[in-house]
Amino acid sequence: MNDMSKAPVIARPIPFIDLQAQRRRLGGAIEEAMERVLAHGQFIMGPEVAEFEAKMAAFCGAPHVISCANGTDALKLALRAHGVGAGDAVIVPGFSFSASAEAVVIVGAAPVFCDVLEDSFNIDPASVARAAAAARRAGLRPKAVMTVDLFGLPADYPAIEAVAASEGLIVVSDAAQSFGATLNGVDVGNFGAITATSFFPSKPLGAYGDGGCLFTADAEVASLLRSLRQHGEGKDRYDNVRIGVNSRLDSLQAAVLLAKLSIFAEEIEQRQRIAARYNEALADVVEVPRVTNSARSVWAQYTIKLANRDKVQASLKAAGVPTAVYYPRSLHQQPAYLDFPEADGGLPVAESLSRRVLSLPFHPYLDAATQDYIVGKLRAAIAAP
Ligand SMILES: *Cc1c(COP(=O)(O)O)cnc(C)c1O
Repeated sequence: MNDMSKAPVIARPIPFIDLQAQRRRLGGAIEEAMERVLAHGQFIMGPEVAEFEAKMAAFCGAPHVISCANGTDALKLALRAHGVGAGDAVIVPGFSFSASAEAVVIVGAAPVFCDVLEDSFNIDPASVARAAAAARRAGLRPKAVMTVDLFGLPADYPAIEAVAASEGLIVVSDAAQSFGATLNGVDVGNFGAITATSFFPSKPLGAYGDGGCLFTADAEVASLLRSLRQHGEGKDRYDNVRIGVNSRLDSLQAAVLLAKLSIFAEEIEQRQRIAARYNEALADVVEVPRVTNSARSVWAQYTIKLANRDKVQASLKAAGVPTAVYYPRSLHQQPAYLDFPEADGGLPVAESLSRRVLSLPFHPYLDAATQDYIVGKLRAAIAAP
């Protein structure tokens, strides 16, 4: 008998995010919820949509929750609801998904890229002031800063709100990856002027298709958002008081999300345990993600930093361990965004991170045997000459 015969059997291929494990756990709940929508037939703005908005508000304590078609639309609606448009600059971290900057351009404003912090991957408050200066020199009005809670960890809101106040900026929170996280005991959905999240299937709370929502404490902004998402409606759908868009959450997706929201708090706990297990098993050989005591990440990704990232990623692939690079290029270096300004001093941290980051398989149902296998292969890949 060799050593391999004693190794526990693990399911192959190893999924990067295992959505089927969650579906098995929910039993028939999702199918039943979808059946109910098929039976009542209110596919657009059915009762599930309002129920889901109410449960989301109860989950995070945000006074108003407005669902929409996807996270990118949520960002666009957030900017429009706060009057961001032509001639305005929105400061966006370069180390993010492209939708953060795309939403700014689509509403007619200009993204101005700022740098992030090495430890948290999140926006560097000092770089926000340098970006505002660059925006003014380019003839733009700095109007907002878009924080991104990257990989599920809330940005440093107290520090960002301080710089936003001194620069006269609105804080728009891109919480596409962080719904369910907390900072200083406060839930995501309650930071900045407005928060946007996404229900893309692989996000911590994901639908079986596209979806998104907005959180605000401002009743006027909330009613403006409800109008904007449905063709600028006034007292009803055939009273058009402004130019809006069509951006609604499908009843079917709301039904799926209601089933998933019922186990989300427990899944967040499971995510903490799995992240802690990775940290313990890897901290002596690699730079593991650091989370301060004041924050609870929702671990949308578990991301390590490696000097020889590409080589390690290739050996893991050969061993059947899927990994991902979020993000291989900072937004200020993407062809589509080259013409937009960047913070004085550039974005050295974002550029360096894009060469070193590697995200490991992570989801609430990652079993110990599979995680041990991943850890073993990663340690071997790092030790290899
Ligand atoms: C996923 C994501 C978005 C966009 O969400 P969609 O629902 O896919 O439109 C925006 N910003 C960040 C940081 C994201 O991760």
